[in-house]
Amino acid sequence: MRPLTRSALRSYVCPSCRRGILFPRRQFASASSKVPEIYDVVCVGGGPAGLGLLAALRASPVTAKLKVALIEAQDLDKARTWSSGPAEYSNRVSSLTPSSVSFLDRIGAWQHVDSSRTQQYQEMQVWDGETGSKISFDWSAETSPFETPRTIATMTENANLVRALLSRISSLGDDGVSIFSNTTVSSIDNGVDHPDGPDMSAWPVLSLSPTAAATSSPPANIAARLLVGADGINSPVRSFAQITTDGWDYNRHGVVATLALAEPENPPFPIGKATAYQRFLPSLGGPIALLPLPNNHATLVWSTTIENAAYLKSLPPKAFIAMVNAAFRLSMTDLKYMLNLNPSSSSGHEDELSWRVQHTPQPHHIPPSVTAVQDRSVASFPLRFRHASSYVSPRIALVGDAAHVIHPLAGQGLNLGLGDVASLAGTIEYAVTHGMDIGDLLTVERYSSERWAVNAKVGGVCDILHKLYNVPGQSPITWGRSLGLKVVDQLPFVKGFLMNQAQG
Ligand SMILES: Cc1cc2nc3c(=O)[nH]c(=O)nc-3n(C[C@H](O)[C@H](O)[C@H](O)COP(=O)(O)OP(=O)(O)OC[C@H]3O[C@@H](n4cnc5c(N)ncnc54)[C@H](O)[C@@H]3O)c2cc1C
Repeated sequence: MRPLTRSALRSYVCPSCRRGILFPRRQFASASSKVPEIYDVVCVGGGPAGLGLLAALRASPVTAKLKVALIEAQDLDKARTWSSGPAEYSNRVSSLTPSSVSFLDRIGAWQHVDSSRTQQYQEMQVWDGETGSKISFDWSAETSPFETPRTIATMTENANLVRALLSRISSLGDDGVSIFSNTTVSSIDNGVDHPDGPDMSAWPVLSLSPTAAATSSPPANIAARLLVGADGINSPVRSFAQITTDGWDYNRHGVVATLALAEPENPPFPIGKATAYQRFLPSLGGPIALLPLPNNHATLVWSTTIENAAYLKSLPPKAFIAMVNAAFRLSMTDLKYMLNLNPSSSSGHEDELSWRVQHTPQPHHIPPSVTAVQDRSVASFPLRFRHASSYVSPRIALVGDAAHVIHPLAGQGLNLGLGDVASLAGTIEYAVTHGMDIGDLLTVERYSSERWAVNAKVGGVCDILHKLYNVPGQSPITWGRSLGLKVVDQLPFVKGFLMNQAQG
């Protein structure tokens, strides 16, 4: 943790009271100790977590009057005006659990999401490509045919969510809120003890610089009563607070793409029910998942080795489509063979798939075939695990990827971030209601205690699943995971419990 003067742990004393205590020192204030503009909350990072926090603080009557600032290096005007054709979808899509959606609804942001671009799903098919053992989660089987089946998650483009959060924030007015877009935090330091003003020696003071795209200049320095790091995996706020992280790189990449699917052979029952598919491919480095989007589209997240990811990205569209269809249908041996075909061979992948699929028994739970891949939508992201040793320090709190980054196999990263935001907003609300200093360590510890262990548990489970499903071939571990899936699949109580947990 960063070195702090004793004043960091002392209660805040307002400048006029301090004047009485420090009267003799007052007369020698120097020009160099000019007090920077003070904000109650400064949030670094305008991704979904940072904007979610700002929207939550502005939407609550208790915290709406706080003076808040948000700093984002990217151009938020582009995010505000983001638009896309009706059959074109961004390749960055998140599955939001019902509890994330209900939080967004509570703060008035979900109403700003373009719902025609979101897709709920009620069923999930998960199976092991090595052993064939499977587990299915189906809320429509748990509800009567006369009720609307419960939703497992809602697929939402990150850009749609960010635009909605910005729209919600501006609908709440701009009184007391400063958004510095195209602005980077170049450094953060502890402030100084101003003889004529507040003792800010434990207050974070941020130096701001405009990026090349900026059209106006931000203030050079601002001070934060509470500084929130929503600034992603390489969080400058976390570095300033000298909060360490545990973690490792998985040496895997997540290949993403937007895909068009064939009409399903059997129309879903009940009508409108949508399904997510995930097949673990132990010999290839991780699972492949196909998650539904509207209009028979789907988003792909294929976690695989760095070499396989580079190979998949190098393929022409038809070969890429054949590889994705093969990954849900063929054996590990066939897939390994196809991943060694010449990437530029004109119809090699398609021919191999159609020949090999005839000789491979197909389970009934495979997804409809992929028929097209959206232009320029294939990309990949390194997969990593990080967990901050603490989420708080005096006048500091970390949320979202700044606090934790987990394997995407359960689609929980952003959901955990939104859980952090709901908890921190509640903590600030509590402090304001009870006349507490919102940056005091005692105040923010309430947030840390609500979130740290929860996030460690979810991140740990994803990590164990990743490791368990990376053991190829026939071994006691392969046998154990196969038995585990079969047992859970046949125990309705355990399955119901897991489905409720996954909903958040
Ligand atoms: C392949 C893949 C699939 C995923 N799928 C899912 C899913 O289905 N469901 C789910 O819940 N999660 C999913 N996730 C995780 C999810 O995408 C992230 O957890 C989420 O986007 C993190 O949001 P954030 O706001 O915390 O951080 P970010 O989105 O990283 O935002 C941080 C912001 O801080 C800004 N910033 C950083 N440094 C500075 C600075 N010095 N000055 C100013 N600004 C700065 C950056 O510009 C950035 O905008 C997935 C992740 C991957 C890789």
